[in-house]
Amino acid sequence: MRIYADNAATTPMSETAVRVMEDALEHLYGNPSSLHSAGQEARARLEEARAQIASCLGAAAPNEIYFTSGGSEADNTALRSAALAGAKKGKKHIISTAFEHHAILHTLDALAKEGFEVELLPVSPDGFVTAAQVEAAIREDTALVSVMYANNEIGTVQPIREIGQVCRSHGVLFHTDAVQAVGHIPVDVQADCVDMLSLSAHKFHGPKGVGVLYVRRGVTLTPFIRGGAQERGKRAGTENVPAILSMAAALREAVDRLPEHMAYVSALRDKLNDGLLRAVPHTAQNGTALRDPAHRLPGTVSLCFEGVEGESLLLRADLAGIEVSSGSACTSGSLEPSHVLLAIGRPAEIAHGSMRLTLSDTNTEAEVDYMLEKIPAIVAGLRDMSPVWEDLMSGKKPHLI
Ligand SMILES: *Cc1c(COP(=O)(O)O)cnc(C)c1O
Repeated sequence: MRIYADNAATTPMSETAVRVMEDALEHLYGNPSSLHSAGQEARARLEEARAQIASCLGAAAPNEIYFTSGGSEADNTALRSAALAGAKKGKKHIISTAFEHHAILHTLDALAKEGFEVELLPVSPDGFVTAAQVEAAIREDTALVSVMYANNEIGTVQPIREIGQVCRSHGVLFHTDAVQAVGHIPVDVQADCVDMLSLSAHKFHGPKGVGVLYVRRGVTLTPFIRGGAQERGKRAGTENVPAILSMAAALREAVDRLPEHMAYVSALRDKLNDGLLRAVPHTAQNGTALRDPAHRLPGTVSLCFEGVEGESLLLRADLAGIEVSSGSACTSGSLEPSHVLLAIGRPAEIAHGSMRLTLSDTNTEAEVDYMLEKIPAIVAGLRDMSPVWEDLMSGKKPHLI
């Protein structure tokens, strides 16, 4: 048996998304900027996709949708554009949070080096920032607030609508990295008072290398990739038509099936989460214990097992056919504990023993049963060989969880 339980890293493409992409690769070769029929056919399909994505997000108009190469480009563009617009008015203060994705944090690091004052709000032990924290941090010279919609490691969903309302009432630009949220929980850019939003197709069963930056009408977007007049002069380069059409189809499908998928996936999550907590002693759940989609993503299980190393856990699980992650994929391979787990107050030695299992509607109950059978034995096996665990059991070191 091979089980894919790493859907926060990426998702397998849906059959519809593959079919749409294949069809476009084969038949829709025209350049949307060309004036002949092949070009105009591609242009029409591209604009259809734009309108469809706008409607899925609750945007006011299709021209608020800008196609990008993915979530990272959308995040970089949003932050840099807002920073530049702010600097022109003498505003160089940027508010974000300590547990953002690296696409945000590393861009903010670069902006700090360029003279911006970056303030990262602390995150509560259960994995939230509040609108009150944002409001208290807003200053006269605040150029931008950027808070992720849902965290990619622990799955907590932030009070985006309240934060959006606070930003709107203070006239401060608000961006949200919604890469983990779109296609998994309801997102509505107008109701949420969002000015800019990033999404990525491969996180909702679409293709890799394509995403969207939503920019509300009236918000200035500064181009960073210059060249042709594509994307209304804001993002040059011949559009990736097959990937964009496939993304639109995947999003349509995900949004149409949202209620039933949320119910299905969260039932699997609860069984896996509770089963592992019951079966493995000295284990803690990361992030909120709340289960409703307003507070937690349907598919995320994030746990810390005391006395084991996350990397060894991941490799043993893989040998047993279970594909999971220790923290986020972007930090694995390095020995730094996850910045997200540190941000919610996990001590480094506990953060090192983390496992993230992220489910989607492609997973089954039989797979959850298999994971519940295998993972406790894997943890026990690693603990048997661990000198840290020996110290904990002999009482030489106190248990932290
Ligand atoms: C995956 C992810 C990104 C990056 O998206 P790419 O399309 O892979 O560049 C950004 N933010 C979050 C929260 C993510 O989960």
